[in-house]
Amino acid sequence: MVNKIENSTFQLSTKLTQLGRCPDEQCGFVNSPIYRGSTVIYNTYQDIENKSARFSYGTAGTPTIENLENAWSVLAGAKGTVISPSGLGSIALALFTTTKSGDHLLMPDSVYRPTRNFCNGMLKRFGVETQYYDPMIGCDIEKLVRENTSTIFLESPGSQSFEVQDIPAIVAVAKKHNIKTIIDNTWATPIFFQAHQHGIDLSLEAGTKYLGGHSDLLMGLISANEQTWPALREAYDHMAMLPGAEDCFLALRGLRTLHLRLKEAEKRGLEMAHWLKHCPEVIKVLHPALTDCPGHEYWKRDFKGSSGLFSIVLDPKFNSENVAKMLDNMSVFSMGFSWGGFESLIIPFDCTQYRTVTKWHPEGLTLRLQIGLEDIDDLKHDLAQGLQRLHQ
Ligand SMILES: *Cc1c(COP(=O)(O)O)cnc(C)c1O
Repeated sequence: MVNKIENSTFQLSTKLTQLGRCPDEQCGFVNSPIYRGSTVIYNTYQDIENKSARFSYGTAGTPTIENLENAWSVLAGAKGTVISPSGLGSIALALFTTTKSGDHLLMPDSVYRPTRNFCNGMLKRFGVETQYYDPMIGCDIEKLVRENTSTIFLESPGSQSFEVQDIPAIVAVAKKHNIKTIIDNTWATPIFFQAHQHGIDLSLEAGTKYLGGHSDLLMGLISANEQTWPALREAYDHMAMLPGAEDCFLALRGLRTLHLRLKEAEKRGLEMAHWLKHCPEVIKVLHPALTDCPGHEYWKRDFKGSSGLFSIVLDPKFNSENVAKMLDNMSVFSMGFSWGGFESLIIPFDCTQYRTVTKWHPEGLTLRLQIGLEDIDDLKHDLAQGLQRLHQ
């Protein structure tokens, strides 16, 4: 559905209400219908010879999928978008797009752990060598570039440990050596970080998180700039790892309120981060908008906001038994791995277990928090009581 809004000069919130739907083509209904389908019918011999239908077969796309692709491309400032059944699926597809046998791939040591597993397993079997780099390396990444380096992957801030990368410095090196860049932009989303404007070729979003927003959706989106779009679409068409129609419908619904939910997540995340900074049991708050966080100055320079996910480092005098007492008895926060939903979450994590080129010295035990939409005083009360239990 060609949407009149795509090239308009409306502000973002206006666009988010109008993208990916076209009431004139939908019997007047506000939202576009869900198209499910494999076969597409052609009317004449000529039509089938020329494959002239706008949609040729279910795996090649449906109006439901295309609505979301087009809407996301506008939001991301991209030439095109493809959608996968999960965030991890999108990571795999992006890496299959830019690498081939014999290539060298640079990956930050702070990367989302399943990305590391994909590189060390599948990509290795296909003859791609992954070298991990210090996420704070900046322009010195040039020293790691080899003749066969095809891709530099970025994730900013880093999973769990929240290092913010010097993205412009890394992109400049990549451009100089004709290397493709991919960023996992899940934390910021295009609302808080415009990856393609910063020269990134492929930008990934786990739609599972803030786009879904209700912990009931798994999805990944990859947007591409003009030069990289044909290769991305080709890889997608070869694999046909497409999203389900109902999932696209839910994601389009999430898109309408994404900016509001993110701004609320930002406000609440900051309030809780500053509050935790004053708790004596907490020695560090790893939140990109706070000065404790490595790369805070890059966040300030490049990002338009912060979302509601961050980590804390506890005083080293507390051990895992103390932390168990804290976490086993929370009444508002639950323990769970995904995030970006309406509910608050807290998990323990330990990056030291799997990092390979950087030492992570958090001093104390570490917890990651996702701040949800509950009453802020209820959240503080729950955490205050939890932190008290550390002393038991
Ligand atoms: C959750 C997450 C993913 C993966 O998304 P799934 O849909 O759960 O596969 C990728 N990257 C980051 C940074 C994530 O937090």
